[in-house]
Amino acid sequence: MAVKQITDSLVQIKNFGIMNVYIVKEVDGLTVIDTGMAGTAKSIMAAAEQIGKPIKRVLLTHAHSDHINGLDPLKKALPNIEVIVSEQSARFMEGDMSLEPGQANVELKGDFPSVETRANRTVADGDMVGSLQVIASPGHTPGHIAFFDQRDGSLIAGDAFQTLGGIAVAGVIRWLFPLPGFATWHKPTAVQSAEKLLALNPKRLAVGHGRVLENPAAAMRKAITEAKK
Ligand SMILES: [Zn+2]
Repeated sequence: MAVKQITDSLVQIKNFGIMNVYIVKEVDGLTVIDTGMAGTAKSIMAAAEQIGKPIKRVLLTHAHSDHINGLDPLKKALPNIEVIVSEQSARFMEGDMSLEPGQANVELKGDFPSVETRANRTVADGDMVGSLQVIASPGHTPGHIAFFDQRDGSLIAGDAFQTLGGIAVAGVIRWLFPLPGFATWHKPTAVQSAEKLLALNPKRLAVGHGRVLENPAAAMRKAITEAKK
């Protein structure tokens, strides 16, 4: 694993060179965003120890295996952490894969494992978790959420975008790293969400797969234009 300080409050943990987990510093401790694969739990705890603050909560952008498989081991090691997800992702974690009225009636893609851990709390668009604003950003999965840190303008976008193999909106295949594209549920919805995320005018874009982009507006705009073609 590689631990990288991105801003005063944002830390990136990169695993196997392709999967990112983030730690956000809050006054009361640490918020972990996504949990990677099962082995990532150890990296998260090691990084928290380095930072010297307790992990208070885990937020999940979505319930795909490469973001959620570290959850059970982390919760086992730290039983008091609060687990916070979108309502639909909470259902997916329990094996209920139903879509909601109004959502595109197309097949879900990617691996949604059932996990033992249950969400303590569900959040929706506009809710605040510490300094982070919850941004509903469906498309990659129906219940996907992103997080916008109002202190430093960091957008932690999960798989709504990827930057590995070149920036792309979810659903656009980057042949150097095609997995997020193949695992995307509904590209037109992902494009709408990408536009919503761009409208936040983030200072940086931190994604599940790939490097953090500073001043990402132009690159995001270009990726959206390509996704619309
Ligand atoms: Zn995913």
